[in-house]
Amino acid sequence: MSTRAIVVVLGKQGAGKGTQCKRLAQHLDIPHVSTGDILRAAVRDKTQVGLEVASILEAGQLVSDDLVNRLVKERFNEADAARGALLDGFPRTDVQAEALDEILGDDGVKICINLDVPNALVADRLSSRRVCQECGAIYTDSDIEAISGTCTNCGGDVVQRADDMPEAIIKRLEVYERDTAPLLSFYESRGLLVRVDGDQDPQEVTAEILEVLTERGIG
Ligand code: ADP
Repeated sequence: MSTRAIVVVLGKQGAGKGTQCKRLAQHLDIPHVSTGDILRAAVRDKTQVGLEVASILEAGQLVSDDLVNRLVKERFNEADAARGALLDGFPRTDVQAEALDEILGDDGVKICINLDVPNALVADRLSSRRVCQECGAIYTDSDIEAISGTCTNCGGDVVQRADDMPEAIIKRLEVYERDTAPLLSFYESRGLLVRVDGDQDPQEVTAEILEVLTERGIG
């Protein structure tokens, strides 16, 4: 079996995927691949892709499978992904899950973590979330970085994401239930799904995930 550590992190918006993947990437020394971060950087830099997807992101809709699949394929060609990756926000549809298998070839997905949180919690987490536009660091509205508007990590601007506004949050959670939740059964049927309680302190969640990965010989 290949030792490439491909870890898919699934969970609804606000489950803590970004926070956990950033922490896990440091522990495991593999890249955090977030399609949301890649798309937001394209929007910020006004690239051709960015101009194409800006209004879709803002409305909380999904961008096309073809486009995201292409971006992920390109990302996997970079040297740092040779040892593995933490996938956050991808796959998000059954078409993307199949594209991922094709992209990975023999190095299939090793495990899928379902970061589970009650619905009541996510709306609160999303509306108080603030992010750095430059490095993607995640804060809450009571953090000093959010109040001052400056990231202590990189000096970038800390803002509220356009899709963390109430209307877009409702839309995104609907899209999650319709398009992404079915992937839980996809990975469960392959014996790859492990549920982790996302309603705990971030350090506890990281520790639980690392334990699960160690048990499966990953990382
Ligand atoms: P969240 O999971 O909180 O919605 P993300 O940062 O993962 O946040 O994604 C933000 C937005 O980027 C999504 O609402 C969607 O418009 C777009 N996006 C990210 N990943 C994908 C994907 N795999 N397929 C389609 N659209 C995506």
